[in-house]
Amino acid sequence: MLKYRSYTAENLHTLPQYGTIPEEQLHIVRTVASVYPFRVNSYVTENLIDWSNIPKDPMFRLSFPQAEMLDPEDFARMSDLIKAEAPSEIIRQQAREIQLLQNPNPAGQMELNTPRMNDEILHGIQHKYRESVLFFPSEAQICHAYCTYCFRWPQFSGLDNLKFANNNITLLVDYIKEHPEVTDIIFTGGDPMVMNTSLVKKYIRPLLNIPAVKTIRIGTKALSWWPYRFTAEQDADELLSFFEEIVSSGKHLAIMAHISHPKEIETPVAIEAIRRIRSTGAVIRSQSPIARHINDDACTWETMWQKQVELGIIPYYMFLERDTGAKHYFEIPLAQAVEIFNTAYRKMSGLGRTVRGPSMSCSPGKVVVEDVMEINGEKVFALKFTQSRNPEWTNRLFFAEYSETASWLDDLTPAFGHNEFFFEQEMEELYTCC
Ligand SMILES: *Cc1c(COP(=O)(O)O)cnc(C)c1O
Ligand code: SF4
Repeated sequence: MLKYRSYTAENLHTLPQYGTIPEEQLHIVRTVASVYPFRVNSYVTENLIDWSNIPKDPMFRLSFPQAEMLDPEDFARMSDLIKAEAPSEIIRQQAREIQLLQNPNPAGQMELNTPRMNDEILHGIQHKYRESVLFFPSEAQICHAYCTYCFRWPQFSGLDNLKFANNNITLLVDYIKEHPEVTDIIFTGGDPMVMNTSLVKKYIRPLLNIPAVKTIRIGTKALSWWPYRFTAEQDADELLSFFEEIVSSGKHLAIMAHISHPKEIETPVAIEAIRRIRSTGAVIRSQSPIARHINDDACTWETMWQKQVELGIIPYYMFLERDTGAKHYFEIPLAQAVEIFNTAYRKMSGLGRTVRGPSMSCSPGKVVVEDVMEINGEKVFALKFTQSRNPEWTNRLFFAEYSETASWLDDLTPAFGHNEFFFEQEMEELYTCC
């Protein structure tokens, strides 16, 4: 197994490729890393990044901060401080000001999704959709490497009052017992697969004898960022035996793999990790945002989905960039995203068409852009809820005026001269009652 080395802005000079990276590029990394999380590891730098093609290489852009992620003024401000070797307290304080302006709590997750029990706020739990509950184990609020486009960046930025985390599994168990409608428990982060196997067991085992729970999902990017977690790492075998235990308890174990680019599932160790996970009876499903500079072309998606089908992974979601952090750098207009999606989707056999998207995780629900159409001479987006706060909205089609530039639901206007979308009134009532 490759030795695990972690690189951040502080020890960047220990990176073997350090001497080959232009000075300007290094300065960009240090500057932007003062605002957004930056952490990469030796597997990523040795196996995924093509160093002869930086800064364009998609794996480099996915893991190393880029200058345009900050507004030019913010970049200049942080760049000056870094150049002047300003005291770290000042740098932190200026960075905090910038962070707080980047919508660190999008779609009202904190206020609208955090449930209560006996008047207690259940921090680190989100319950937005009837049948599924998210749990954020405290020890999982880091990742083997950070994605530059991460929508959970505040989890890693010391913004403690916006952080979702809990280490009290009893609280989750009690909550779920009061909510028998919940069938799916989703462990997320960060990345739950940074935890050692005994911690993973501590969190998951208590759920295995709750009959209403049918599915355990683990959201992870470890297949891409550190596949040794499932092969050569010290407690990898124990982890896989535990996966078998979950499956034999009668629950469905779904590994929700975040895979952004075909390159991530081409290395022998990633392929071996996928094979080993599947041999436990767990099912791997894949999801990723579509992001400019990283995977914004149909060929990348077609290749990626095709490869996933070959490896036995079920393509599940293509997401759109959420309205937070460096969205302006990574976002793709809805019109372009749906075209990329449809072009790739049409080339797949039916087994690859399990994927849904491009999907926006908005406050009222998950909204997929189905297509661009013309109805009574008006060019419109056909949209559909695949998940919604009110389950009655799910699978309902609705229409918005076509726009070449819109990149989120908030940018859209209802079609056919309507004043509002069908769900808006009810959504407003939800907001005011909380
Ligand atoms: C996406 C999501 C889920 C799961 O939705 P599925 O369509 O069942 O995959 C659950 N909770 C939240 C908050 C989500 O964003
Ligand atoms: S793996 Fe997920 S949580 Fe971690 S940095 Fe990437 S997008 Fe964010």
